[in-house]
Amino acid sequence: MTGERAKEQFTITMEKFIGLACVRLPDDVYARLEEMRAREDSPLQRAIYDSYFENLRKALELGRPCCQDTGLPQFYLKAGTAFPYLDITAAALAEAVRRATLSAPLRPNAVNFFDEKNTGDNTAERVPWINWEIVPGASGMEITLYLAGAGCSLPGRARVFKPSDGYGAVIPFVFDAVSGPGINACPPLVVGIGLGHNAENAALLSKKACLRLLGSRHPHPKGAELERRIMEGLNGLGIGAQGLPGNQAVMAVHIESSGRHTATIACAVNVSCYTHRRGIIRFKEDLSFELPTYRGAAL
Ligand code: SF4
Repeated sequence: MTGERAKEQFTITMEKFIGLACVRLPDDVYARLEEMRAREDSPLQRAIYDSYFENLRKALELGRPCCQDTGLPQFYLKAGTAFPYLDITAAALAEAVRRATLSAPLRPNAVNFFDEKNTGDNTAERVPWINWEIVPGASGMEITLYLAGAGCSLPGRARVFKPSDGYGAVIPFVFDAVSGPGINACPPLVVGIGLGHNAENAALLSKKACLRLLGSRHPHPKGAELERRIMEGLNGLGIGAQGLPGNQAVMAVHIESSGRHTATIACAVNVSCYTHRRGIIRFKEDLSFELPTYRGAAL
């Protein structure tokens, strides 16, 4: 396929994919919310879950975004080194965002920092935010789209502890982030925790943790156990859906980790809300694609 034709096809597919992610929750998130609804015995919490599902049903029926804050689109790429369209990817994603602003529609949320002006099309300096991961030898590209709402972004924080603070310092840090500003993010939440060696490394890992498929576990048994225990603790805080009294504050707790400096313990927290609009699209080298997080969907 020639460059211009490929770019147009790539752009159109991504524009439609953004539209889908706005309207429909990924299958794993929807299924988790259904499980949580079934476990609720509080009339107040059941009423909130019912309104959540009614909102999601209407969004699908009317083809409208399931939340008014359609966020800032962020793209996390796993790009094969042999994918033929690496050089047009960034431009195609930006154009797809511009077009989806009208067609989805996305609420214009992007403001250039020093101009203090909304650009009106959800693009701005380094927006859409694109994170590249290179996959040696692969010929396709997997794109994870995340629509980052303000409520979800506000509780994000990172801190670097000293070894003398101990690993235990991470726990109150996480609990404070979730029980304070996290409540602004329309619980039940997905909590992503990054553990590493400095602030930016932990912050990126915490976002990647947020984006993991629900039901996946940290590969190290101690990491998986820590995920389980933090989730149990957060669900014991007395917080439920919409931040009102309940016992299911979180849908999932995921940890991603890296090696650390002997003298640092870095921790970051990112949360996402019940409309966890994280979708995956996998392109092959001919730009055909599959939608692993939206069974039966077509673009
Ligand atoms: S936290 Fe999520 S559901 Fe709540 S307003 Fe923000 S984007 Fe929408």
